[in-house]
Amino acid sequence: MKRWRLFLVFNCLWVLAALPVQALELNGSLIQGGLVIGRVDPGTKVIFQDRLVRVSPDGLFAIGFGRNAAKEAVLKIKRPGGIVMREILDVKPRRYKISRIDGLPSRKVTPRPADIKRIRADSRLIKESRRRDTPKAYFRSRFMWPAIGRISGVFGSQRILNGKPRRPHVGVDIAAPKGTPVRAMADGIVTLVHQNMFFTGKTLMIDHGHGLQSVYAHLSEISVKEGTAVRKGDLIGRIGATGRATAPHLHWGVSWFATHLDPALVVGPMPRKKKSVKKK
Ligand SMILES: [Zn+2]
Repeated sequence: MKRWRLFLVFNCLWVLAALPVQALELNGSLIQGGLVIGRVDPGTKVIFQDRLVRVSPDGLFAIGFGRNAAKEAVLKIKRPGGIVMREILDVKPRRYKISRIDGLPSRKVTPRPADIKRIRADSRLIKESRRRDTPKAYFRSRFMWPAIGRISGVFGSQRILNGKPRRPHVGVDIAAPKGTPVRAMADGIVTLVHQNMFFTGKTLMIDHGHGLQSVYAHLSEISVKEGTAVRKGDLIGRIGATGRATAPHLHWGVSWFATHLDPALVVGPMPRKKKSVKKK
């Protein structure tokens, strides 16, 4: 008799464990260019658009939607008990601005054959960095604006440079005087330091784990080395106008593997500049 009771209790526990109770939590923007940080029960497998996504031991994961992401995305959750949940995520579409920039040196808009070799080498380094799938979820530090200033370029805008259509802008531009501090948007590891890329000049990349990376371009100064561990808010460089730039600004990009995300959606509104209070 006692044995039977025990067996029933065990069976009930098994059923409870297999029920999808609070199995999925999503934080972020279900919108083109948006980043979503999710949480599942430890041991759960996450498949986003047929791609197995890394999940930290405590259940954290990151996914992103590109500039032209389709209206629907499929997220599959495989729980340790074997139960599979399939979620259809509705991705909000956006309309993008057209941005015209004139007065750029013609060589920076239509590069010479010799420049093309350099451009390809630069983009190879950037792509290599973006392929990293670092196990540590550094992004759990959350995010902040790397610099404060006037937003002079937004994510996704269609670019017309010196009258010629060029690739869309896949970052946020923050205009501020040369020398303005640039800070790490989150914890991470510096994966790339380049002193002179053709388009982006002095360029720095940080790996925030699970394929999430940030890039900081046109810097006048870089104050960290490749391999350095940084904390959110650490000084990593200073604003400049190196590479293809008409005035000092920070080009700030965020990516999830090869998918460019909108940094402004990752951090929310820019905090106001602190007004300096003069002492009497
Ligand atoms: Zn830019």
